Amino acid sequence: MNENFYEIASARFPGNTAATFIETEDGQRHSYDDLQDVSGRYARLLASLGVVKGDRVAVQVEKSPEAVFLYLACLRAGAAYLPLNTAYTKAEIEYFLTDAEPRVFVCRPESGAALREVADKAGVGAVLTLGTRGDGSLPERSAGLDPSFATVECGPGDLAAILYTSGTTGRSKGAMLTHRNLSSNALTLHKYWGFRPDDVLLHALPIFHTHGLFVAINCTLLNGSSMLFLPKFDADTVFRLLPRATVMMGVPTFYTRLLADPRLTRVATAHMRLFVSGSAPLLADTHREFQERTGHAILERYGMTETCMNTSNPLHGDRIPGTVGFPLPEVSVRIVDPETGTVLGRDEIGVIEVKGPNVFSGYWRMPEKTKQEIKPDGFFITGDVGKVDGRGYVHIVGRAKDLIISGGFNVYPKEVETVIDAIDGVVESAVVGVPHPDFGEAVVAVVLRKPGASVDEAGVIRTCKGLLANYKVPKAVFFTTELPRNTMGKVQKNLLRDEHKGLFAGAGA
Ligand code: ATP
Ligand code: MG
Repeated sequence: MNENFYEIASARFPGNTAATFIETEDGQRHSYDDLQDVSGRYARLLASLGVVKGDRVAVQVEKSPEAVFLYLACLRAGAAYLPLNTAYTKAEIEYFLTDAEPRVFVCRPESGAALREVADKAGVGAVLTLGTRGDGSLPERSAGLDPSFATVECGPGDLAAILYTSGTTGRSKGAMLTHRNLSSNALTLHKYWGFRPDDVLLHALPIFHTHGLFVAINCTLLNGSSMLFLPKFDADTVFRLLPRATVMMGVPTFYTRLLADPRLTRVATAHMRLFVSGSAPLLADTHREFQERTGHAILERYGMTETCMNTSNPLHGDRIPGTVGFPLPEVSVRIVDPETGTVLGRDEIGVIEVKGPNVFSGYWRMPEKTKQEIKPDGFFITGDVGKVDGRGYVHIVGRAKDLIISGGFNVYPKEVETVIDAIDGVVESAVVGVPHPDFGEAVVAVVLRKPGASVDEAGVIRTCKGLLANYKVPKAVFFTTELPRNTMGKVQKNLLRDEHKGLFAGAGA
């Protein structure tokens, strides 16, 4: 049996029908027929360029239906799809191309000339563009080809994609994902979130990341349902299209932006089946306020590039703010003491480890790192710190790399952030450790204040002193109008640490 994810999906979605797969924000519709034809032609072109099973096809293109067809063409051709963040610069692209050695690189027409040179240097076989038609354009070159294409036979362990991690804690790593990873994740979510053929997914996420690519697109394929495709999140378009959607997948910043807009109270959402949030922590306040304003409890879930989805709050049952819900079916989650390696019990804080058919096969060309992070018993060390509560809900406390050790004591930033976030006038905070000659690291808070709020450094410290042990109380508090975030809405704590690293240089005894 061919276990290529495309085969598994296409056996379920309506072949040869005119049902809509993707509708763009300007109303252009692309049917499941188009999906089969265009991906067939693209796959044929890739094969004619020498792409065979196991080859990589790297892609840095704008979000569009054609980009989705290209993703599916790579799967059909048996290649590993390797999407690159559209924000990456020439120097970054050079690093990824040299690291991944793709057979083909597809880029935006406007970057074609500049990146061709970079691709040549990295030994890429062919460079194509996607977007405006013209010389070297993928749509143009594949236009006359036969759309029928026999999807390359793949086993469950064959490589389907290499996705680079977001680089929140260091240099991005290429996570190797297999066809089994993609199928198990999509099938599980399909069931767990109760997807239906008449679902319409409002898709405003980027598609170079696991969330917008594997969660959103793969689930849609298995449903045979449709997506409303936005190039990026834009409140005007979201408000215009929400009345036609049934499901929205987003990151926390989508929800905070919707909440900041008075139109949220007026827009029709009663028909919406599901609002999902992930990729970064959703503030409990955001969850509560969204529920008060719309009647919908946002469903928060937890996933990562290496494992697709790990946990989710339930479709039916309590969606508890501040938690990421239960391990998905077939996924095992355990909490481990990082020092002793012992498995901890309920409510004890440690490193989150995950095992299941969702866990990737390793980091691209990093066998040592792979061995360090995937234990012999199959559990992957996520690098996230958390606990499982008495009811079985998983809580994420932060990242192991963000743990602050001050004066020999462990400080979990989230504990301090939760106290600060509850102060009147505070929108959100980020707590980091910066080098300190006496304490090793000192706790520093960067706070986003509500406009016009009067909360100040002394006030934050006073509140923290009242609720936290002394070593957890920030030694300094800074106010900002914006926390630095990457494209997935994750706070880039490394930037905050860098900014304040010299703060205590002259301090100490
Ligand atoms: P890198 O591994 O390169 O440092 P990254 O971990 O941010 O970057 P991703 O794979 O995109 O790269 O993100 C996965 C991480 O995002 C998880 O390990 C977790 O820390 C965080 N995350 C995802 N969903 C949630 C959530 N619901 N709540 C809190 N954190 C989340
Ligand atoms: Mg990570």
